[in-house]
Amino acid sequence: MKRLLLIVLLLSTLHLRAQQTNTFRVLAFYSETVEHDHVDFAHDAIPFYTAAGRRDHFEFVATKDWDDLNAENLASYQLVVWLDDFPHTPQQRAAFEQYMEHGGGWLGFHIAAYNDKNTHWPWFVSFLGGGVFYGNNWPPLPATLVVDDPNHPVTRSLSTPLKSPPNEWYIWKPSPRLNPDVKVLMSLAPENYPIGLKDVITGGDLPVVWTNTRYRMLYLNMGHGDQIFKSEAQNKLLEDALLWAAHKP
Ligand code: ZN
Repeated sequence: MKRLLLIVLLLSTLHLRAQQTNTFRVLAFYSETVEHDHVDFAHDAIPFYTAAGRRDHFEFVATKDWDDLNAENLASYQLVVWLDDFPHTPQQRAAFEQYMEHGGGWLGFHIAAYNDKNTHWPWFVSFLGGGVFYGNNWPPLPATLVVDDPNHPVTRSLSTPLKSPPNEWYIWKPSPRLNPDVKVLMSLAPENYPIGLKDVITGGDLPVVWTNTRYRMLYLNMGHGDQIFKSEAQNKLLEDALLWAAHKP
């Protein structure tokens, strides 16, 4: 009996130590059946955030099974990350809505926020701040980004402006900035216009990083191709973005 008690005590100490080592858990979703540049981004993001987890004491788990987006599974994660895809079934979407409405955290990249007239998910459009996909540049190009709020924990380390590596930039209509609940942290600098060769964005308000303050969420437009993690300054932003999304009260 004494020995059993000792084992139980030992196990609970080890469990406590494990919890202290990893302060939170992150579940990232991605797909390998999407546009190859989006697969490339996910394949770069997973080792990047796995290494960040070792530095910053969180566990980063990546899965291609979007059915893992269910209430039972989400209960043990503090943050959900979408690496260039989004849920496609009503069950996955409902589980995500419930998770976010009850204080869950979300970090979304690039096409994670894509929605158009065929999406049929009004909650998600409202969650993002109201913007519907309106246009993109092609080919992917580097851009100068301005920091809208240099005092925010996500952008504090950046010298402004940031030279962001080549990306396919998306513009939304209406601009999420028009929503009073949205806080825009970074935007495409006007000097980038016109941006694109085959597909050209000629102008307009193009928020790149924003949060809908009604939720613990952050969206970043970066996420196209295998150049995204080539900037040390941007890498710091991407790491700080995850930490903030996981901890925002
Ligand atoms: Zn893309």
